[in-house]
Amino acid sequence: MDTPVSFFTNHSPSEEELAYWLEPGSVEKDRQLFDRAYAAKIEHPGPRLHLRFLLEVSNVCSRDCLYCGVRRSNREIERYSLQPEVAMEVLRRAKSRGYRNIVLQAGERRDKTFTRAVTRLVEQLRREGGEDFRIVLSLGEQPAAAYRDWKQAGADRYLLRIETSNPKLYSKIHPPGSAYTLGARLRSLEALREAGFQTGTGVMIGLPFQTLRDLAADLLFFKAWEVDMVGMGPYLEHHATPLFAYRHQLLTVKERYLLSLRMIALLRCLMPDINIVASTALQSVGLPDTEPLRDALMAGANVMMLNVTPESCQKAYSLYENKFTPGPDSEKYLVDLARQLNTWGEEIALEDPGDPLHYLKTKNTILKKSLK
Ligand code: SF4
Repeated sequence: MDTPVSFFTNHSPSEEELAYWLEPGSVEKDRQLFDRAYAAKIEHPGPRLHLRFLLEVSNVCSRDCLYCGVRRSNREIERYSLQPEVAMEVLRRAKSRGYRNIVLQAGERRDKTFTRAVTRLVEQLRREGGEDFRIVLSLGEQPAAAYRDWKQAGADRYLLRIETSNPKLYSKIHPPGSAYTLGARLRSLEALREAGFQTGTGVMIGLPFQTLRDLAADLLFFKAWEVDMVGMGPYLEHHATPLFAYRHQLLTVKERYLLSLRMIALLRCLMPDINIVASTALQSVGLPDTEPLRDALMAGANVMMLNVTPESCQKAYSLYENKFTPGPDSEKYLVDLARQLNTWGEEIALEDPGDPLHYLKTKNTILKKSLK
C-alpha cells in the first residue's frame, strides 16, 4: 500500500490508513508519525506532564477476566482493602506538594456495602480537597445509580477501559455469559457520561487474536465516542490467568511496545485535545534500549500515574507480571522527575487539575445549548 498522506491533512483517516501506520515499517516512517503527534500535543495540551496520585484501594474483585492477575479465581494473591484514612492521607500529601488529583482504583464490587463506602469516601475527599481538587474513580462496571451517587458525592472523572472495541475479541478474553459483553461495557460508558463524568477508557495492545485492523477500529471508536481520556498499553501476560496459555502466539514485547507508541501517536493526531496516559504497562516493559516515559511523551502522552499504594499491598495488585511502580511520591523522586522532564523539553504541571481540554470544550458547548 502506498503511504496514505491524507491522514496528516484531513484528520479523518480510514481504518485501513490507521492500520498502515500501525504496521512495523522503517524508522523514518515511525519518526514521521511521532513528529506529527508531538506537534499536535505541543499545540494543544502543551509539553506538560500531569501527575495523578494512584491509590489501589482494594484488590477484591467479583469478576474473572481471563487476562487479569487480580481475577476472582486467582488464589495465589492475598486480598486487601485499605481503610478510608489511607486515601485521606494521600490527598493531604498530594495537596501539600501542589498536586490536584487522586485516582482510586479497585477490583469490581457491586455490593451495597462497597458502593456506599465509596460514596462516603468521595464525600470526605471532596470536603477536604476543595473545589480545585479532582477525584478520579476506576471501579469497573456499576449500576447507573451508583455512578450518579458518586458523581453527586463529588467525583469528577471515571476510567472504564473497554479493552477492545471488537465484540468477538472481547468475548475471547472474558468468560462466557451475559455479565461479560462489550454491549454491557458500552452501556456503562454511556451511563458515566450521562452522570456527567469526565470519561476515560482504553484498550490492551498486542492481545492474542488481535489484528492491526482491530486496533485501528479501537482508535476510531475513541473518536466516535468522543472520550475525554485514554489509557492504553501493551498486553502483558500473567501466569495465573487462562490467557497465559496463548503466550506463544503473542508479538514480542518489543513489538507490543512499539505498537503501543504508534497507537498513542495516532490517537494524539486524531484527538489532539484529550488526555492520554503514559501507561504503567508501557513503563513496565523494561527493554534495555528504551526509555518508556520519554518515548510515550514524545509520542503524545501527557499524563502519568504515580503509584502511592502502600508498598505492602502493591505486589498483590498484580494485573500483570513485573508491574512497574512509578513513584514513590517522595520529594526527591518528584524533583528528579522534574529535572529529567526538563532535559526532554517538558515540565510537571503543578497546581493544575489537568481537566482534559476536550471535556472543557464539550461542556461549554452543552452549556451554550442549554442557555439558548
Ligand atoms: S480486569 Fe478488573 S474487573 Fe476484570 S478481573 Fe481484573 S480487576 Fe477484576
